[in-house]
Amino acid sequence: MRLINHPVLCNYYVTYRCNATCGFCDIWEKPSEYVTLENVKRNLLALKKLGVRAIDFTGGEPLLHREIDLFLLEAQKLGFITTLTTNCLLYPKWASKLQGLVDMLHFSLDYYNSEKHNISRGVNCYDHVMQSNEIALSLDERPDILFTVFEENKNEILPVYEKVALPNDLILILNPVFGYNGVDTGKPLSFATLNYLLKLGKLQNVHLDKAFIQLRKDGGNHIDNPICKAGSSTIVISPENKLVVPCYHLGTESFQISDNLDTLYHSNEVKNVVKMEGKLPGCEGCTINCYMQPSFGVEINKYWFKSLPSTLRYGIKKGTWKKLILTRQN
Ligand code: SF4
Ligand code: SF4
Repeated sequence: MRLINHPVLCNYYVTYRCNATCGFCDIWEKPSEYVTLENVKRNLLALKKLGVRAIDFTGGEPLLHREIDLFLLEAQKLGFITTLTTNCLLYPKWASKLQGLVDMLHFSLDYYNSEKHNISRGVNCYDHVMQSNEIALSLDERPDILFTVFEENKNEILPVYEKVALPNDLILILNPVFGYNGVDTGKPLSFATLNYLLKLGKLQNVHLDKAFIQLRKDGGNHIDNPICKAGSSTIVISPENKLVVPCYHLGTESFQISDNLDTLYHSNEVKNVVKMEGKLPGCEGCTINCYMQPSFGVEINKYWFKSLPSTLRYGIKKGTWKKLILTRQN
């Protein structure tokens, strides 16, 4: 049963550029422009009208955009929940300007071993993560540690948990890796690893969406009975100010947002692509977390039940539930 019939999240790509070259990501290879403040302001108003509740200012590396603080401020003024993930190379420079503007601030860290983390990210960013933690804490920010789990780094989860997250009372988010577009993201996670993650998910300060695990055990999205609601639950805006449908990773179609995003989203040409969410040939077996998480939240099914407890627990810990209630709209 469909619970929410409007998009709830916007993945706003402020640039595809990145100052890291992670082996499991291809976005940094793309030439890219930067979004403009004028377009961001206009689109945020339209997103509000569409019923979107959370804006993920993403990239590439979102802190490469010189006006990222202004985007976050605009989103905060309109009552959106804001989220941003960074590799931390630029966070120390931005920290004071971003203070209080990001509801869910994520620092990427995939190894406790500095050398391994730097190799995985293609750049020396480990020390920046540690420094960013210190600075953020001194500013009363509560960043989450976002740990992307591969078969190769599963033994690093506990050291990161015990030596970085717990001593600072930070949440460790376990983000199971997903494959897409032929990018080499390593071996799929084994059942043993998936079960290990479920075990870790019970620990204090560890956030794991159990629906991610169930979806992998079920072989991902199936095009004959799709769980994916990418296009109808999430709006993707590209650095060229285009609406990308049904998702960034498949990016089947993109439509220039010349004036009103709200009107464009409701146009027949966009609706026709949205209808294909989860049903296209490239959708078979898909487990892309960025779209599956909002998909789990808009329709009642077994994934909704799996996802709910951790989503509530995380929302309570982060305080984002207050914003959801205070800015509730229908
Ligand atoms: S830091 Fe993020 S956007 Fe940049 S290359 Fe790595 S995974 Fe991709
Ligand atoms: S199943 Fe995956 S690839 Fe297909 S629309 Fe959904 S998120 Fe995109």
